[in-house]
Amino acid sequence: MKTLDRPVKPGGVIGIIGGGQLGRMLAMAAARLGLKTCIYNDENHAPAFQVTPLQVAAAYDDRNTLTGFAEICDAITFEFENLPVESIAFLESLKPVRPGSAALAITQDRFSEKSFVASLGLKTAPFAEVNSEAEARAALGKIGGPGIIKTRRFGYDGKGQAKVANADEAAKAMATFKGAPSILEGYVDFAFEASVVAARSADGSFAAYDPPENIHENHILRRSIVPGRLTAAQADEARQIARKIADSLQYVGVFAVELFVARDGSLLVNEIAPRVHNSGHWTIEACACSQFEQHIRAVAGWPLGDTVRHTDAVMENVIGAEADAWETLARSGALHLYGKQEAKLGRKMGHVTRLKQKT
Ligand code: AMP
Repeated sequence: MKTLDRPVKPGGVIGIIGGGQLGRMLAMAAARLGLKTCIYNDENHAPAFQVTPLQVAAAYDDRNTLTGFAEICDAITFEFENLPVESIAFLESLKPVRPGSAALAITQDRFSEKSFVASLGLKTAPFAEVNSEAEARAALGKIGGPGIIKTRRFGYDGKGQAKVANADEAAKAMATFKGAPSILEGYVDFAFEASVVAARSADGSFAAYDPPENIHENHILRRSIVPGRLTAAQADEARQIARKIADSLQYVGVFAVELFVARDGSLLVNEIAPRVHNSGHWTIEACACSQFEQHIRAVAGWPLGDTVRHTDAVMENVIGAEADAWETLARSGALHLYGKQEAKLGRKMGHVTRLKQKT
């Protein structure tokens, strides 16, 4: 495994695997620090290709192209977790990759992720591994309904998920997922959702942003509000949860921990995103150092930036055809559009952040 002996100097190249909006905003933050980016994406068109000087379009498991990509990069990262872990491990043998394949392997699989979180003594919804209709029935009987069946891998924005009330529905969901390895989770009657976006650098320093409250609609993040309804004690606990996770993964870079705030006030970990996160977009305008700059700093071996928040903020996603109202949106706050050609249903086209004087 290659480690970074000294920081990547201005003019150096950060490789980013994945060319979506997160890669795009990472590339823009890197440019501000005088660093170049090379975006690796598996399709020819990508939002991040529009803002980077170097680009590669090839399959994520194409070893020849991965080798060429590694040659031009000083350090490498990724902007989404549904990548072949073998490719990240391969890149790691050539250049420093942050975060590394070990963190990716744990967090891209819901069962290993929840087992890891539980092993740290942190709370989660009750969960069980299910691989067949019979196991789904048995798990629902044990955990009790209602529950949610989630495929272990490749799920996002509610894809690969089904809410189930009873054993028959659990079995039916497994049939719909064609028996894909899954987990059954007990349904949490939470008060609200929140997240904590934080960063850890290779020397172990840690910095977390104020945890926002998150509102989802149709399984997609609608808005993040900071400050939300978390108490100061809950916000502290959220930061401690993030630190515990980051330290035990020896994590380098920005990550997010999605949380359920239970009605009794306790915090349950829903999932870990090993990357910059939609619920951290407000940091671009409201904080001294955005989550994107922070991630680039950590990957490049620079000192972490200041996570202090100057203003209150509400970040709202612009989804599907809502982007047609770009003029109205542009008047209403700091508008970010991701340069996506087609406004498909449920597709994140941009976001708008509205600032308010700090309360
Ligand atoms: P996930 O893909 O695991 O982040 O789930 C997407 C969304 O589904 C979450 O943000 C919650 O709104 C909801 N959800 C997921 N798991 C549960 C659960 N165990 N109990 C209640 N709601 C859940």
